Amino acid sequence: MWAYLYKKCIKCGLTDFKHTSKGLCLKCWRKDIWQKKKAKLLVDPKFRAEYNKAQHKWIRNHKEYYRKLKRRLYNTPHQKKIRKARSKVYIAIQQGKLKRLPCEICGSTKQNEGHHPDYRSPLKVRWLCRVHHIAEHKKKSTH
Ligand SMILES: [Zn+2]
Ligand SMILES: [Zn+2]
Ligand SMILES: [Zn+2]
Repeated sequence: MWAYLYKKCIKCGLTDFKHTSKGLCLKCWRKDIWQKKKAKLLVDPKFRAEYNKAQHKWIRNHKEYYRKLKRRLYNTPHQKKIRKARSKVYIAIQQGKLKRLPCEICGSTKQNEGHHPDYRSPLKVRWLCRVHHIAEHKKKSTH
């Protein structure tokens, strides 16, 4: 429910999420907290150490949940396909069957990654630098 003081979120102007605190919806409120935390993490090494410790403790106490979460994020059939294709590229490079080429867009030779237009042909890759690789993936949301 939105409080009588706030008819909509003061940040995003939407009412999609519940009013949480000081005129912010749940989403913006979470973002706000996270941003404040991130800023503090950057400037405060002691806080950073505490935070890391707390995080490790959380993982230790929620091992099963964490494992499931990770599996859900990294072990989708799609992710498996990507990993398989990438390892094939890696092996082919090791065997000298494939060569890492400069980025086909900017010509950069730093951190080039093989981009698969089609994972069914794992050795058919386009070479792109990190920046253009990410850009390529943003263009189409297929993989
Ligand atoms: Zn909002
Ligand atoms: Zn590039
Ligand atoms: Zn790619």
